Amino acid sequence: MSKPLRVPATQHGLNPREIDKKARSILQALTGAGYEAYLVGGAVRDLLLAKHPKDFDIATSATPEQIKQVLPSTRIIGRRFRLAHVHFGREYFEVATFRAPHDESDKGQTGDHGRIIHDNVYGTVEEDALRRDFSVNALFYDLESGDVIDFVGAMDDLEKRQLRMIGDPVVRYREDPVRMLRAVRFAAKLNLTIEPASEAPIKELSGLLENIAPARLFDEVLKLFHGGQAQKTLDTLRKYDLFVWLFPQAESSLLEDEAGDSESASYTRLVAAALKNTDKRIRAGKPVTPAFLFAVLLWKRVNDGSKMYRELGNPALQSVHLAATDVFSEQVKSLSVPRRFSNMTREIWTMQGRFQFKNMRRVMGFMDHRRFRAAYDFMCLRAHAGEIDSDDCEWWTLIQEVDEPEKLAMCQAALSQGNNKSRGRTRRRKKNS
Ligand code: ATP
Ligand code: MG
Repeated sequence: MSKPLRVPATQHGLNPREIDKKARSILQALTGAGYEAYLVGGAVRDLLLAKHPKDFDIATSATPEQIKQVLPSTRIIGRRFRLAHVHFGREYFEVATFRAPHDESDKGQTGDHGRIIHDNVYGTVEEDALRRDFSVNALFYDLESGDVIDFVGAMDDLEKRQLRMIGDPVVRYREDPVRMLRAVRFAAKLNLTIEPASEAPIKELSGLLENIAPARLFDEVLKLFHGGQAQKTLDTLRKYDLFVWLFPQAESSLLEDEAGDSESASYTRLVAAALKNTDKRIRAGKPVTPAFLFAVLLWKRVNDGSKMYRELGNPALQSVHLAATDVFSEQVKSLSVPRRFSNMTREIWTMQGRFQFKNMRRVMGFMDHRRFRAAYDFMCLRAHAGEIDSDDCEWWTLIQEVDEPEKLAMCQAALSQGNNKSRGRTRRRKKNS
């Protein structure tokens, strides 16, 4: 065992009071019972970078059963590799037993593309550090002594603000290609540069993402685009040829825009505006939905597709539905989209046609729709991107703010301005029903 670097509290500046109190109590209970236990991974990294950790994970020498003996509120989960969740009511903390990296000489443990098939054996704290992905994710914090324990040169990397893969980057990306996406995510989120040797193989290995389960890619995409640095993330993903494996249709839409003149690049502008908006919402602590991200990224293909279906003689609404079905069946080949999100995305798209109808009854009904807000936000983004006239965005913004009599006046004005398409339509439909 190599000697780890132990950095005392006076040198690293991590303040233990920033660690969740309940996580501290778990660490104390386990060390009090004679086990090794450390705060580990993202929490140590984020605290050293003066950021707020999302969660406080713990690594220990105790087995799940031993953890449960010390902390009876533990629930043991997972079959292949068992993890302990220590509960405080509904809230829980993940406590994992030290794990060894898989043995690279054992071909039986890696798949056709070098992926790890079954990696899970208990190990020492050092082995637990070495099986992690990036050095900055492999630091341990010892609450008892206040030391940060570094087996992998992570403190140096933090100093240089760089993300470095532990071990041979090519081997580690082959074992788990999702690590390439994690590199992009951490670099963007933490404003770190990817160290040259860790960066170099990514482009060439990007195609390995094809072998990753679409459900896992979906989870990873959410973390990528909802991390508060969405545009930078998109640019970096594209730079390394990773984006095309996640959203092939969006990549080709962006390329089409790049091939045309900048005037007509309204899709690229829509994506930029939407990503900026998402980041702003996340910074303000507002909720974001993946449905919106999908609505934006796939919009050009859906829009082109529905145009084609209309030209073939289909009614407008049905054309959008047909195009949406095509686009989703293509998309899920790369990454899966849970039904509840794809349904909402579809609604955002199909509702775009309703903004042209401005008679009072339809307007009131539309504004009551549970997806009105998302559809309206999307329509305004299209207007800001120059895809459609900005009049509708202004009109629908105003009508939400004014009182009833003014709403009525706005609708009447809109209708008398020759905007009486809607009247004819509703009448006709009523007669038919
Ligand atoms: P975040 O703040 O985004 O949660 P994190 O570092 O906590 O970042 P997690 O995905 O929660 O990331 O994983 C926890 C830890 O598990 C990581 O810090 C890393 O040490 C290890 N880890 C996670 N995924 C991998 C992977 N694919 N390969 C190797 N180690 C990994
Ligand atoms: Mg985490």
